[in-house]
Amino acid sequence: MKISLYNTMGRSIQEFKPINDNQVGFYACGPTVYNYAHIGNLRTFIFEDILKRVLTHSGYDVKHVMNITDVGHLTGDGDDGDDKLTKTAKETGKSAMEIANFYTIAFKKDFNALNMIEPYVWCKATDHISDMIKLIQRLEKGGHTYQSGGNVYFSIDTFPDYGKLASLKMDDLKVAVRDDVSVDLNKKNPKDFVVWFTKSKFGEQQMMWDSPWGRGYPGWHIECSAMSMKYLGESFDIHTGGVDAIPVHHTNEIAQAEAATNHKWVNYWIHGEFLLTDSGKMSKSKGEFLTLQLLIDRGYDPMDYRFFVLGGHYRTQIKFSFENLDIARKNRNSIVSRIKELLENGVVKVELDSIEAKALALEFDESCASNLNMPKALAVLWNTLKSDKVTDREKYSLALYFDQVLGLRFDEIQKETKEKLSDDLEDLLVERIQAKQNRNFGRADEIRDELDKLGYVVKDTTKGPILSKKM
Ligand code: AMP
Ligand code: ZN
Repeated sequence: MKISLYNTMGRSIQEFKPINDNQVGFYACGPTVYNYAHIGNLRTFIFEDILKRVLTHSGYDVKHVMNITDVGHLTGDGDDGDDKLTKTAKETGKSAMEIANFYTIAFKKDFNALNMIEPYVWCKATDHISDMIKLIQRLEKGGHTYQSGGNVYFSIDTFPDYGKLASLKMDDLKVAVRDDVSVDLNKKNPKDFVVWFTKSKFGEQQMMWDSPWGRGYPGWHIECSAMSMKYLGESFDIHTGGVDAIPVHHTNEIAQAEAATNHKWVNYWIHGEFLLTDSGKMSKSKGEFLTLQLLIDRGYDPMDYRFFVLGGHYRTQIKFSFENLDIARKNRNSIVSRIKELLENGVVKVELDSIEAKALALEFDESCASNLNMPKALAVLWNTLKSDKVTDREKYSLALYFDQVLGLRFDEIQKETKEKLSDDLEDLLVERIQAKQNRNFGRADEIRDELDKLGYVVKDTTKGPILSKKM
């Protein structure tokens, strides 16, 4: 099936054609681990997980690489402000390494709780300093860098295509920032950016490495260019992130990578829109933000949040509120109850052979392939569960098929029901079957009462007794 995606480069929906027949190289900008991920960040990671699942579901072998930024990301996009990790370290009295390790573990916990599929490679910036130095040396050789005031800068005037992703116009850029007092006077062009800080302007920078330009640390953008090329090669298929990365981070990544290699770097740039709150964009720098753990503490299942995110298209802003999350929870619970009912009726997974089942599977796949239209894909799930054209077994099997992309843990609904049967319950159920076979209905009724006291209802069906938890 053809997959179409909105490519920020070109601003249009385009048919996805990978460089290699069956393999997709996919780099996703990962978290900056100076604080917990907020649920806005997690929205972006869920969108990326869906994209990866859609590609995998369509038969591609996806090489997904995600970085962990643990150095060099400053609080200001224009190379101003503090290194985010160093700032938290100073505030808490811990080392930057301790901060990075703590929040990396917290991030991976959220990542798994939301049922996102682990990348093929997690790469930490601090483990790849030599790759970054090599890339800067390559840029230096090509005349794309200069040293000034102790830092190494990328000179955007040496890269005529600068700003093509964000449709930036060089002359406008100069005018826009000319009067900005925060502009670094060491820069030849105000939009030049640091690739290596040789003399930390913050004095207390904790993490530094030797380099040909002196002891220092890398700029944030060089990290992603160097690590993505290391694992995916000098041209690859997809690069993603939130829309805020378009004007600076991704623009600068492209400049570095393409100036170094002299050819096109990434074919599809796909960006996820923001999660908003009443007061605007959710952001870590505003201090107050919502985490997944906070939702869990308030009694929500991580799948409620995943379901909530799936309800909005990745290219539209969605507004978070607890009322909206409650609606998502209610809707997800109805789906789960319906699947439980199917299981309690003894359904098993079957091949999707009938014309009706195939049509629903196709409709679902087409929705996903059409620029990840997950709200439509969810509507197909609802229609399937309500349909009178497919059997219960097919409904269940379709739900599991859809869940390869949705990732809502439908397969665990089955396990949950089955695993709840302890050995004692299993023994009682077997004893009751034997009692009935021996026409000892008194004992069979006693066991039914015992099960009732234990919180279970036994239902006799043509396929045998089925035990379910009392609601
Ligand atoms: P960070 O950890 O700050 O590097 O951000 C991780 C990812 O979250 C990046 O791809 C950002 O573009 C994205 N992001 C930041 N804020 C939001 C938001 N409010 N909604 C959705 N994505 C966001
Ligand atoms: Zn990045």
